[in-house]
Amino acid sequence: MRPPITTAAARLAVAGFVVAAVLTATSCALPAPTEAVAAERRSQRASAAAPAAPAAATTPVRYHGGPVMTGPVRLYVIWLGEWSANPTRKRILVHFMSHLTSPWFAINRGYPDAAGRRVQNSVRLVRQISVAVPAAPARLTDTHLADTVRRALDAERFPVDRSGIYLVLTHRSVDKVGFLTRHCGWHDYFWYGSTTIKYAFVGDPTGPNLRVCAPQAVSPNGDAGADAMASTIAHEVAEAVTNPEFTGWFDDGGYENADKCAWQYGRRYRVGRAWANMRLGRRHYYIQMNWSNTPGVGCTLGT
Ligand SMILES: [Zn+2]
Repeated sequence: MRPPITTAAARLAVAGFVVAAVLTATSCALPAPTEAVAAERRSQRASAAAPAAPAAATTPVRYHGGPVMTGPVRLYVIWLGEWSANPTRKRILVHFMSHLTSPWFAINRGYPDAAGRRVQNSVRLVRQISVAVPAAPARLTDTHLADTVRRALDAERFPVDRSGIYLVLTHRSVDKVGFLTRHCGWHDYFWYGSTTIKYAFVGDPTGPNLRVCAPQAVSPNGDAGADAMASTIAHEVAEAVTNPEFTGWFDDGGYENADKCAWQYGRRYRVGRAWANMRLGRRHYYIQMNWSNTPGVGCTLGT
């Protein structure tokens, strides 16, 4: 099933978000997003077959004066749901997140903050925890995911880290509102005391609707769900570092760097029957490109 998202409608939703972000930037907290507003505005939109908007291919990403994550990035992972049932899928993702310091991530160095400090090509997976899905409600909302991160901080299972990105990775059995219909993942932030906590959601698309969020049904690591999640994680992390509070880098259409290259893969090669486009450590991956703001470069796999 392909979600009925038209490019024009999506762009409107994104543009609407930009206005909202500017308006809320002066207050301390971004209000808990409602699904209708939130889902499109900072998400890896669903449908692996959807090309990026044509305008996005030529418009530069511009800086809007707000924070950029310039310290070495530390990843904190919440495995939400019954991941113990899928150890191989988990292992592939741990390997990927442990190798995200890469020519691909180095593209983000092109997005400095107001003081000229650059994103560093340094990403480390520092801590992982497992969290059970709450008994109710049956369908998790965006707010539930934020609360999951907040509770992990409350319980001191993670440090409060302004250079952290807290990734909530949901098991295939988790029913998340909007997942596989409107989005494959998204990033957001909330205030925790005086610290902004950057977090992202990426769901496991394995199942009958896999192809909504996966570019191919066979994959370089023999697990299309894991390989699809790796690409979405890369996308969200790139956006979280360059536009953590929605006042950093995005183009005139509201597209963040990775949005401009969503579902585009560049030069690729075969691994068995699957496509791949990069090798990280001992594994091959098929990761969507990221936008280089160097004039004349645009979507690329690395720098
Ligand atoms: Zn995005």
